[in-house]
Amino acid sequence: MATRVTFIGAGNMAGAIIGGMIEKGFSPDAITATSPSDEFLAPLRERLGIATGTDNNAAIEQADVVVLAVKPQIMHDVCSDLREAVQRRRPLIISVAAGLPAETIDRWLGGKLPVVRCMPNTPSLVGAGASGLYASPAVDDAQRKLATELMEAVGLVEWVEDEALLDAVTAVSGSAPAYFFLMFEAMEEAGVALGLPADTARRLAMQTAYGAASMAMQSDRGPAELKRNVMSPGGTTERAIQSMEDAGMRRIVQDAMKACAARAAEMA
Ligand code: NAP
Repeated sequence: MATRVTFIGAGNMAGAIIGGMIEKGFSPDAITATSPSDEFLAPLRERLGIATGTDNNAAIEQADVVVLAVKPQIMHDVCSDLREAVQRRRPLIISVAAGLPAETIDRWLGGKLPVVRCMPNTPSLVGAGASGLYASPAVDDAQRKLATELMEAVGLVEWVEDEALLDAVTAVSGSAPAYFFLMFEAMEEAGVALGLPADTARRLAMQTAYGAASMAMQSDRGPAELKRNVMSPGGTTERAIQSMEDAGMRRIVQDAMKACAARAAEMA
């Protein structure tokens, strides 16, 4: 019998994971999603063929895995309402909510449950996400494997064994798409200052980032070596990199990521 997965919340993140799961071969018959209104549910039902409903408790009656994909602000109310049904069924819980510790989710659901806390990022919405996962002590190996399979449907999965490290994951991947968007903005502005049309500069910058990431991912060489390989002595790239190093690029990145992780810790 296929593993039955219920999504509580049917917005962007749930839609992305469900779409990825089906693309990877999960049966739509084994997936259910809930939301208070049909607005989010109709497209999932019609496009992906999953079951949908507005009653959270009814939706988890048969579930082996419950993915909590509602906004953190309403998580307490959602969990309190699910408590009895979850304690009866005792499914694997996967929470994608930012900033809520696994222990908090577990307590709100009545305690002693296997809870996986996941820190995804927005590229998950296009199947190119990067997620950090942490498992509470009650999660067994089979459940870890299942959580890995589910989140790999939208991209890369990395486990951390200390939940506090999810703050570092937030700095390295959770918030990081915005660092690259800032870089694209800056490169577009600089390209325009050098005389290129804005859309030409934007396309070139984005394609270059995509190409550099693809190249780095396919190579067994580290970034320092790849960088050196494109820097001929006295050439253009060396001049640009030297200018960035002189301006303290590494320190800027380190300070930004420390600030990000510290803010994530404050919010937990
Ligand atoms: P979203 O698009 O607003 O989706 C939230 C969904 O929850 C909506 O379908 C909403 O329906 C539904 N909902 C509200 N109350 C509910 C209830 N009582 N029972 C069941 N469903 C209910 O939000 P999202 O962007 O997918 O984010 C979901 C979670 O993912 C959040 O906790 C967020 O921290 C986390 N996350 C998201 C991203 C991302 O890239 N989007 C990245 C990292 C983490 P209504 O709109 O009808 O109320």
